[in-house]
Amino acid sequence: MKTHENIHFFNTLTRQKERFVPLEKGTVKMYTCGLTVYDFGHIGNFRAFIFEDLLRRWLEYREYKVTQVMNITDVDDRTIKASRAQGVTLKEITKKYIKAFFDDVETLNIEKAEYYPKATEHIIEMVDLVKKLVDKGYAYRGEDGSIYYDISKFKDYGKLAKIKLGELKPGARVKVDDYAKEEAQDFALWKAWDEGDGDVYWQTELGKGRPGWHIECSAMSMKYLGETFDIHCGGVDNIFPHHENEIAQSEAATGKKFVNYWLHNEHLLVEGRKMAKRLGNYLTVKDLTNKGYDPRAIRYLMLATHYRQQLNFTFEGLEAAKNTLERLTNLARRLLDTDGNARARGGEDLRLLADRLQTSFEEAMDDDLNINIALAALFDFVRDVNNYLDQNRVSSQEAKRLYGLIMELDGVLGVIGEVGKQEKLSKEAEELIRKREEARQARNWTEADKLREQLKSLGVIIEDTAQGVKWHIEKH
Ligand SMILES: [Zn+2]
Repeated sequence: MKTHENIHFFNTLTRQKERFVPLEKGTVKMYTCGLTVYDFGHIGNFRAFIFEDLLRRWLEYREYKVTQVMNITDVDDRTIKASRAQGVTLKEITKKYIKAFFDDVETLNIEKAEYYPKATEHIIEMVDLVKKLVDKGYAYRGEDGSIYYDISKFKDYGKLAKIKLGELKPGARVKVDDYAKEEAQDFALWKAWDEGDGDVYWQTELGKGRPGWHIECSAMSMKYLGETFDIHCGGVDNIFPHHENEIAQSEAATGKKFVNYWLHNEHLLVEGRKMAKRLGNYLTVKDLTNKGYDPRAIRYLMLATHYRQQLNFTFEGLEAAKNTLERLTNLARRLLDTDGNARARGGEDLRLLADRLQTSFEEAMDDDLNINIALAALFDFVRDVNNYLDQNRVSSQEAKRLYGLIMELDGVLGVIGEVGKQEKLSKEAEELIRKREEARQARNWTEADKLREQLKSLGVIIEDTAQGVKWHIEKH
């Protein structure tokens, strides 16, 4: 593992792959838009969080010290609407879904960010930022008492989403948080209280009201990361209006560039369609784990598609992910269980295989997290090393080294976990599997079947697959 100066990311701002150069050598400051806690996060949200986790882990693998901030939107149009619809307070509803969010983060083995600021705990910072924008002439009070951002004043407006303002109607403004690109117009920074807000408001210098969604992320990112920072992530649906507005707010207030690299992940589809409650294809992480799916397989499926490609989630794909992952885990386990009785040494060949894997994996990941190529290299390695193991050509020392490499790369993928704590074969069972392999190679099927039965009596179930022999311990 060595630091690398050759990481490239596709920057949405320039629509180009660019060499990654952080502001401060050896450190990365990144902001990742978090969950709006009005409901359980769906698997589309978690696709974004897993992509960001992979990014974070890759930067850490390259020995960067990462400071990640992920906000929690606990006040906005949607949270207020949900709390009123359910007849509970804003706090009650957001508390419930914040807890669920952190449960899912843990389930999916997502590394924790350094900061998870809540919007409701940063109202002062937001008010200060709005005041600054008013003072500088970028914002004005509408007749409804709300404060709006005047997008005609910010000459770079539209630079992220690549929209031109030619078609703008002067004075047109929007109070709701979310709207389409075609409706680009002045947007609310501070929303004067109205009946729809119920008892959700703050009495501030700006009047009685609450912050708009976009100002929340500008205020919280700059508080923890500074006025300019390295990376900002989110789903492509955040490019407009959310991230465009974050740029407009932050850069107008500070006069500095807000973010150097904007990374956006593509949508997730479920069975080929956009996820929607009315289509019945809306899935949360718990929906999947309640059905008995292994969280590691869910994670693997999510990260195995490059983040800039649409990911079509299917249950068939989840099954396949489970099997693929099992091949990887089985190899790790085999290596861990290899004793010192190698018939011959793989020696130099094994060293070459390991070097090739490490180089290919690193080069691929440095290239805008090209996970497809990284995983292809990994599974070539799995196949090759299994062959050496089948031939009993891996010494325990070599096995230890190869195992170390797999676990090092799993520090990035986060899908294997601690194999040592998982199922382990007894020496007796190991010996029987080895004998059965010999019998099979000698095409002595009767002997092979007999050994399979013996293994079964020990609770070890053997499966012959195209990728080699697999086993698992029967649970009682
Ligand atoms: Zn945000």
